[in-house]
Amino acid sequence: RAKQEGRNTFRLFEPKMQERAARHLAIENALRRALERNELTLHYQPQQCLKSGRILGVEALLRWKSAELGDVPPAEFIPLAEESGLIVPIGEWVMRTAARQMVAWMAAGLPPLVVAVNLSMVQFRQSNLPARVGAILADTGLPAGLLEIELTESVSMNQPEAAIAMTRALQACGVMLSVDDFGTCYSSLAYLKRLSIDKLKIDRSFIGELDTDHDDQAIVSAIVSLAGSLGLQTVAEGVESPGQLDFLSRLGCDIAQGYLISRPLAAPDMFRWLKSRAGSVRAAPLTAATAGA
Ligand code: C2E
Ligand code: MG
Ligand code: MG
Ligand code: MG
Repeated sequence: RAKQEGRNTFRLFEPKMQERAARHLAIENALRRALERNELTLHYQPQQCLKSGRILGVEALLRWKSAELGDVPPAEFIPLAEESGLIVPIGEWVMRTAARQMVAWMAAGLPPLVVAVNLSMVQFRQSNLPARVGAILADTGLPAGLLEIELTESVSMNQPEAAIAMTRALQACGVMLSVDDFGTCYSSLAYLKRLSIDKLKIDRSFIGELDTDHDDQAIVSAIVSLAGSLGLQTVAEGVESPGQLDFLSRLGCDIAQGYLISRPLAAPDMFRWLKSRAGSVRAAPLTAATAGA
């Protein structure tokens, strides 16, 4: 009886596993040709200074429209790109494309903006990463200070000594470093202090219920004050409501990013968005009433 149940369960389970495996294989095969077929693009989401209301920069976010599979979200294809090693050429393309875009926007009259790119753990472990970053800056002409590299907290926890050395080498290139999705992973404060980083990006899971959840309020407040005492800036991700923005402002969080300010947009749309903002530099601090207006 137990044996039979076990077998039935297995039978129900197996087709799903096969489906998953087939989907993974299809994604990996299609991803192999995505670069040469020009199926990848970058969307850009602005980051706003909470004190001045000014737009300081944008985060580049990868988008893939596959000929065979349609739109595939990064959460689905990035892990497979990492497993297969494809993230290395793709990540290089992301950094180069983002850098080129910023130079083009400046040439078109926008003020200098920092562009943040997400870096995978696989890329972070490549010893020639600083050289690759240097080559991209040299080739595109982007000033190093306008490139920001986002590491995930887990990236930095892996092989601590190597990670510390890599953050130093990257900072020596002149680029800025931030720790993405901060708070989702346990990292020791003593270790965090040894990393050469500039910013902590507070994970959006702490922001969503910020208006009502006292635990989230306590956590975000603790992260902002921790960052302040370590000399780091804070970026809140996933800001969707004026109430969240107000709370973050009052805490002294430096930068906000989220749908309230803008969704990630394709380059031409983000260019228009940024241009329409450029003429209206806010003199007064941003408040809930003016946010997203
Ligand atoms: P992430 O780096 O933490 O990026 C922020 C994610 O939150 C993005 O999802 C963005 O669209 C979404 N988001 C922004 N504001 C809001 C908001 O107000 N509310 C909500 N609910 N979501 C918001 P996306 O674009 O789907 O990217 C997911 C993840 O995929 C990224 O998380 C990043 O870890 C990874 N990723 C994206 N592009 C790249 C890339 O070029 N390279 C690597 N290695 N990873 C990437
Ligand atoms: Mg990110
Ligand atoms: Mg994040
Ligand atoms: Mg992330």
